[in-house]
Amino acid sequence: MQTPRPPDYHVHTPLCKHATGSVWDYIKEAEKKGIKEICFSDHMPSNGIYDPKHRMGLEQFQEYLDTIQGAKEASPIRVLLGIEADYYEGCEAFLERILRSADFDLVLGSVHFLDGWGFDDPEQLPVWELVDVNETWVRYFQLLKRLVNTGLFDVVAHLDLPKKFGHRIPKEMLKELAAPLLDLMAEKGVAMEINTSGLRRPVSELYPCVEILHMAKERGIPICFGSDAHEPEMVGYAFLDALEVAKEVGFERHAVFRNRKMSFHPLP
Ligand code: ZN
Ligand code: FE
Ligand code: FE
Ligand code: ZN
Repeated sequence: MQTPRPPDYHVHTPLCKHATGSVWDYIKEAEKKGIKEICFSDHMPSNGIYDPKHRMGLEQFQEYLDTIQGAKEASPIRVLLGIEADYYEGCEAFLERILRSADFDLVLGSVHFLDGWGFDDPEQLPVWELVDVNETWVRYFQLLKRLVNTGLFDVVAHLDLPKKFGHRIPKEMLKELAAPLLDLMAEKGVAMEINTSGLRRPVSELYPCVEILHMAKERGIPICFGSDAHEPEMVGYAFLDALEVAKEVGFERHAVFRNRKMSFHPLP
């Protein structure tokens, strides 16, 4: 008997061109680790212009839907259909079209690009030397607020992602930037992901940091867990550690999604 773990709501597939293994390898790994529910939330398809290198082509989107639907029907654990959708200015029309075309359980919202700069892409790391770190964080949080305001997303993924390579800002500044965003999430009923992939990055910390977790708890923002697995072995990565942190902060339940409706389960 394994220790129970919460659902993993952030799992990629090889269609994104930078993940390995098959959908079934991810499912088997979840089963092995005692995870009873996973959500495939691969990077949303390319519109032809935006970051085509790191996502499926639009012509592969139906294959994605069919693969996950097939897995939903045959898997011994519960499989959800999700998507990790990037917010950028002008994304709304395309995103609405994608979201209308299938019955998604869950839509993760992310910001990976600032004015065309993929700030969390290792290949674009040198750009950090050219920018003002504080300003970068300010712009990042502006985009996250717009993301939440669109009403198109259920969860904010890896909320403090710009810290990935260690580009931090003072904690007081971070809290000041995060507060209005978290107010907005609470008002709009948008949940927050505890993403364990930060623990395997240079920053070596959960996304988001514990201070932001406390601020989310104070505001009653629901949480869910995501490994951001791009390899099958990473499903449920460090979930017991993340669970412990969530409990220490005072969370007692996690969000569960079906057909984009949120409900709650007690933390295992
Ligand atoms: Zn990815
Ligand atoms: Fe992401
Ligand atoms: Fe991801
Ligand atoms: Zn991600």
